[in-house]
Amino acid sequence: LKRQIAQATKMQAVGQLAGGVAHDFNNILTAIIGHCDLMAMRHTPGDIDYDDIQQIKHNSNRAAALTRQLLAFSRQQTLRPQVLQLPEVISEISQLIRRLIGETIKLEVKHGRNLGLIRADPGQLEQVIVNLCVNARDAMPEGGRLILQTYSVPASEVRRMRSDIMPIADYIALKVSDTGVGIPQENLSKIFEPFFTTKEVGKGTGLGLSTVYGIVKQTDGFIFANSEMGHGTSFVIYLPVNHSAAPVPQAPVRVEATGEL
Ligand code: ADP
Repeated sequence: LKRQIAQATKMQAVGQLAGGVAHDFNNILTAIIGHCDLMAMRHTPGDIDYDDIQQIKHNSNRAAALTRQLLAFSRQQTLRPQVLQLPEVISEISQLIRRLIGETIKLEVKHGRNLGLIRADPGQLEQVIVNLCVNARDAMPEGGRLILQTYSVPASEVRRMRSDIMPIADYIALKVSDTGVGIPQENLSKIFEPFFTTKEVGKGTGLGLSTVYGIVKQTDGFIFANSEMGHGTSFVIYLPVNHSAAPVPQAPVRVEATGEL
């Protein structure tokens, strides 16, 4: 619990700092990119300065993309939860995922039967899935398999896994597994921390999994990571079934008055 509080406090502090800096920084970058465009107009391809200008612009754009990511991370987005079917959310973005992972990685999607509905912000859920898939891709530079699996988890099993929560309903799990390089044991406890990354500068921000963690938590769920070096990694997200989404009666229920009570 202490670690969870420390993590939450750290996320909040980083979020506030990052949001403030990213906003100002983005304005500065917009000016730099604008001036690059003006300079480029005064040069022609092949000109001695032309390539340098393009380089400045390219890198400024990369910095702008990074600040946008920081802004998205820090923004306390208002949740717009909806009652959803998890497989539908996945099928909405399966084309995007295929494009992200490229041709060398095979995507497999398997859905369990009789999954209940969940209550979540669809946009945020998509972000969670995409972040996990991008990490899986980065862990499989030589190709491999990315498997998305959904299944129901009875409340009793959740209670066994997490003695600190008293589930009132079953959960739905989404398992994202890859056949990638794996995560060293000593890193497993750090991967959800903001800014923890093993990727080279410019490639990783270390914000992907902390964003995932934050969103899953806001959705009243939890996440586990499992990894075996050289074999692969799997993340499992557990989200509570929306127990208030009772089936709508087919016909209005008529209550007969029965005289004396
Ligand atoms: P980033 O992807 O920008 O580095 P994340 O927070 O998404 O930030 O991930 C943190 C780190 O966790 C990664 O740098 C990587 O070392 C590790 N990681 C996350 N997912 C995987 C995975 N599927 N396989 C191997 N390592 C992973």
